[in-house]
Amino acid sequence: MFRDAIRKGGPLSEVVRQFIDKGQLVPDELTVQIVRLWLDDHGPDGGFIFDGFPRTLPQAEAFDRLLAERNLPLTLIILMEVKMEEILGRILGRLSCEKCGALYHAQNILPQQSGICDKCGGQLIRRHDDTAAILHERMQWYETLTIPVVHHYESTGLLRRVNASGLYERGFVDILELLPV
Ligand SMILES: [Zn+2]
Repeated sequence: MFRDAIRKGGPLSEVVRQFIDKGQLVPDELTVQIVRLWLDDHGPDGGFIFDGFPRTLPQAEAFDRLLAERNLPLTLIILMEVKMEEILGRILGRLSCEKCGALYHAQNILPQQSGICDKCGGQLIRRHDDTAAILHERMQWYETLTIPVVHHYESTGLLRRVNASGLYERGFVDILELLPV
């Protein structure tokens, strides 16, 4: 959603870009504002899945309020657990399409033609924030900022843990099994 906001332009895009380019966390208030705009734009039709949000306790609490105001109950929370060394390998090899944002991996998910997106023909690039130093910093944020979110949702009884190490396919199947048909 951040990358989308940047691509589309608009009043928040420059502010968001500055945080993303430096690999810094986008502040809670700005993050919640972007989620609120998204909810207003898309409405509840057919439901939705947020990936990687909320990441902090204040975001989770604000999200609870946004959903309550719109009378949208959460139905499922999935925590994907992956080993640290695997996270490093995945992120450091990650390539994304400049145009459409599709994700590839330098070893695991190769495009048919090197450096070119299968879906739209755009150029594949490494993100500025995919470096070992920035990743290490993010893992520390995870410990201090995101673990409290896990505790927050544990009390709802909606939290399910998925072992997302190893094959992408296995974690994917485990998640599909959790989703309502
Ligand atoms: Zn593309």
